[in-house]
Amino acid sequence: MPLYDYKCDACQTKFEQEHPMSAPPVKTCPHCGQDKVRKILSTGGVMSSGASRSFSPPSAPPCGMGGGCGSGMCGLS
Ligand SMILES: [Zn+2]
Repeated sequence: MPLYDYKCDACQTKFEQEHPMSAPPVKTCPHCGQDKVRKILSTGGVMSSGASRSFSPPSAPPCGMGGGCGSGMCGLS
């Protein structure tokens, strides 16, 4: 079940509420009881921040194995 973050505009209270996606969002603040609650974007869980992970680029195919250079043209053979 997804976890949603809510904030009450009346008392500035932030809280989390777990409910199914099909359920209507929370409207009433559990602290002050006013209908000033709005959903805020959760900062965790959805997007992975591991994009900066380094990876080794694929090595170029060696000459003579279909790499495109003719035999004896690249100096590696
Ligand atoms: Zn409130």
